[in-house]
Amino acid sequence: LPAVVGTAELLNHVKNGDIIVVDGVTGQVIVNPDEATLKRFHERKVELKRQARKLERLRNLPAMTRDEVQISLQANIDLPGEIDGALEHGAEGIGLYRTEYVFLNRDDVPTQDEQYVELRNIIEGMKGRTVTVRTLDVGNDKLPYSLGEHLGVSANPAMGLRAIRLSLKVQSLLENQLSAILRAGIHGPVRILIPMISTSSEMRQVRQIMKKVATRLRRKKIKIADPLPPVGAMIEIPGAALSADGLARDCDFFSIGTNDLTMYTLAIDRGDEQVAHLYSPLHPAVLRLIQFTTAAALRARIPVNVCGEMAGDERMTAILLGLGIRDLSMASAAVPRVKQRIRGLDLSEATRRAQTIMEQADSGMVAALLDDFNALA
Ligand code: PEP
Ligand code: MG
Repeated sequence: LPAVVGTAELLNHVKNGDIIVVDGVTGQVIVNPDEATLKRFHERKVELKRQARKLERLRNLPAMTRDEVQISLQANIDLPGEIDGALEHGAEGIGLYRTEYVFLNRDDVPTQDEQYVELRNIIEGMKGRTVTVRTLDVGNDKLPYSLGEHLGVSANPAMGLRAIRLSLKVQSLLENQLSAILRAGIHGPVRILIPMISTSSEMRQVRQIMKKVATRLRRKKIKIADPLPPVGAMIEIPGAALSADGLARDCDFFSIGTNDLTMYTLAIDRGDEQVAHLYSPLHPAVLRLIQFTTAAALRARIPVNVCGEMAGDERMTAILLGLGIRDLSMASAAVPRVKQRIRGLDLSEATRRAQTIMEQADSGMVAALLDDFNALA
């Protein structure tokens, strides 16, 4: 479904029965378009469908660059029902399952068994492909009613009790999630991803809790994944990115969350339309953090991927690959477009362009150099 957000005044200008054009690609919303505009958008819709059908033909082709470097493309999902779309679009696995959606829009906390069944369905549905399960990332913009008593009121919720901070405070939440994941892990390959990590000690605490949970389950003769799944950190806080070399010692993998990383690096709330125009993952500071994190992961020989929106934007593919990323996770619908971009791209040229881009001082210049490179393809 096409969607545009941050249209604050719009509801004052529309009434029932109005025709509205919603262009989710450009962010344009047109109320009661004239005949010519309507015709233009109808044609565009037909053209987009035609392109999508053409892209679907790429489903069984590898995501390989022109100079034959294989890139892994995975899907982000928020709900179990989305795995069909992931498979249809040719995703190699689930790079990010945001478990918080199972907690939203309900009055109670899902039980461990309920979480286990959801996970088992996803893992079985992915038929041997790896599923990366992220533990609860609530707080800030995602507030389940059932956890209200723990979340309290914060003047700065984006910097408050959210994600792993909440899971470590209310440990029963984390224990239940980890138990469900370990149990579901007997049905196929899983990885555990921890959101909003800022220090190594948080990772060590998670591992200790996982061991405790595993011992408890084994004692009850409940089957669990053996060996225990890899545990990785979301790199989405600038401080985590800048200490990625140290963090890597306690992580089995990294997943770079460019949505929050951009927000915290530039101090721009991604949901606030008054400053949204300043939000740019192409800001040199954000790119440097991605570069540093990727280099640290490569040195430590642990896998690293990007799972923020940037990964699903084919205009950004060249810079991410040029910075050393070989694994991208995105909304399923973006997989074919990104694959097409990868198949038309020469990695050694992208790497050279990335070096030039990294010398730039502002996102405008970065975007111009990137657009110019994309236009060559
Ligand atoms: C991110 O921050 O980039 C990310 C993938 O996590 P979320 O969008 O769920 O915060
Ligand atoms: Mg995030």
